[in-house]
Amino acid sequence: MNRGIARKLPDGWILWQRNLCSGAASRSSSAVSTTQLNIHECKENQSFTTNVHPYDIAIVGGGMVGMSLACSLATKLLTKHLSVAIIDSNPALGHKLSIKNEDPPDPRVSTVTPTSISFLKDVGAWQYVQQHRYAYFDKMQVWDYTGLGYTKYDARDVNKENLGCVVENKVLHGSLLARIEDTDFQKTIYHSRLASMSLCSSSSSSGLGKASSMEAMYARGDLAKLELSDGSSLYAKLVVGADGSKSQVRELAGFKTTGWNYSQNAVICTVEHLVENRCAWQRFLPSGPIALLPMGDRFSNIVWTMSPKESSDHKTMNEDDFVKAVNHALDYGYGPHPKPSVLDIADLFSWPRRNVTLSTNQSFEIPPKVVKLASSRMVFPLSLKHANHYASKRTVLIGDAAHSVHPLAGQGVNLGFGDASSLSKIIAEGIAIGTDIGEISLLKKYEAERKPSNVSMMAILDGFQKAYSVDFGPLNIVRAAALHAAHHIPPLKRSIIQYASGEQRLPLFS
Ligand SMILES: Cc1cc2nc3c(=O)[nH]c(=O)nc-3n(C[C@H](O)[C@H](O)[C@H](O)COP(=O)(O)OP(=O)(O)OC[C@H]3O[C@@H](n4cnc5c(N)ncnc54)[C@H](O)[C@@H]3O)c2cc1C
Repeated sequence: MNRGIARKLPDGWILWQRNLCSGAASRSSSAVSTTQLNIHECKENQSFTTNVHPYDIAIVGGGMVGMSLACSLATKLLTKHLSVAIIDSNPALGHKLSIKNEDPPDPRVSTVTPTSISFLKDVGAWQYVQQHRYAYFDKMQVWDYTGLGYTKYDARDVNKENLGCVVENKVLHGSLLARIEDTDFQKTIYHSRLASMSLCSSSSSSGLGKASSMEAMYARGDLAKLELSDGSSLYAKLVVGADGSKSQVRELAGFKTTGWNYSQNAVICTVEHLVENRCAWQRFLPSGPIALLPMGDRFSNIVWTMSPKESSDHKTMNEDDFVKAVNHALDYGYGPHPKPSVLDIADLFSWPRRNVTLSTNQSFEIPPKVVKLASSRMVFPLSLKHANHYASKRTVLIGDAAHSVHPLAGQGVNLGFGDASSLSKIIAEGIAIGTDIGEISLLKKYEAERKPSNVSMMAILDGFQKAYSVDFGPLNIVRAAALHAAHHIPPLKRSIIQYASGEQRLPLFS
């Protein structure tokens, strides 16, 4: 029997043995030092413990991105008949969304862009989000602790009603699940985890002719085989890795990655004000940005980037001290409030004033004061990771499995929704012309569509992270000038807003 095994090594690493019937896969990068490739020739007379029917698609990882792909497939004319397995041990997949609106919001939230909202409306999930708490925002203010610069954005600068919406992750996830449940989609949820994955190269089988048994299809390379941690196994024409930044699919399929740790953690929590907050605020501090995002009612979400030592101090300090630290960080601490004329460079940007945006004349504002901590504090380590390729035969990566980014601009899940939208469209196109949906030529179209936009967003976020991690006089002036430019040059301002909203253009002059 051709089976993947896990063994504990003396130093605590798990050794995964991957069963590959093809020699085509290459050894993957650093993260894959735990993976041992075990290459076999496929034999016609292999025996299998599980005899199940093959799925069209196996989605490994039923997080927000995996579920958005399932939802998109469930609602497209050409894909809604597909049989889909979703593999994830997350108990939320077995429950209906039940959130009381009077409960304080969960600290795990996402800022979803107007483009993602359109996608969620198209797949029919947004109506479920609207039954819960969500908060649109139409204004944003970004400033620097040096007091040298600030910029403001207003949705009306680009003739939009809002710049985005803040939604709890569990609401997004539960809404996608609820939408799928309301369709006739043939999905099977496996409450388990992927343990091993194998694929035969078509050249390694002989004498199978047109036999259509599952074993014969597998031996011909027409199906991938997945073995799960509960001992069950299944076959699928296409395996989608939606299993997050530590993706097992990515590792087992041998996709190399590029990336680094930021040596920064994000502290997140919900806080309460005396008045409702309607703006998204972000201030760059010496150790990283702090964001205050509106959550509806009088709640806001905090995403505060800092060193690992500071994050553990801020997680454990008493609540009053934490609230003081937040107000210090968002208002009077670290440096003065910016004044429009502080650099005397506003006049440099006066040439485009004929075409002034609404927000150009808006002055700096102090964010609403935080009066109470309204949730537990959670800490997440931050890193950048990008898979060098997203597609190989019968395997494709989406969401954080393909790319994980710094949360400073709240783009991670938005990029993932973009992947899901693109992949479901390309699968539908493949079905329309009768192509095997696991064919690499088809899957490479998805990679070609998504990789450039994901890479450019990652580069911009990484550049921001680096530019703001240095406290050095001349660099502070350059950063301030950049904020002034972003505030005073209307075409640049509009491009930035449109790019951050999810439109596929770089923030250059339009
Ligand atoms: C502090 C912070 C704030 C953020 N804020 C924002 C924001 O405002 N806006 C935004 O767009 N993004 C934001 N992000 C990023 C966003 O949360 C992620 O991009 C998003 O959660 C990725 O979703 P995913 O479904 O790809 O992966 P995940 O959410 O990681 O889901 C992966 C799923 O795969 C499952 N899984 C893992 N391994 C296996 C296995 N072997 N077998 C089966 N299942 C498996 C897991 O159980 C999980 O359910 C933020 C991130 C952080 C850390």
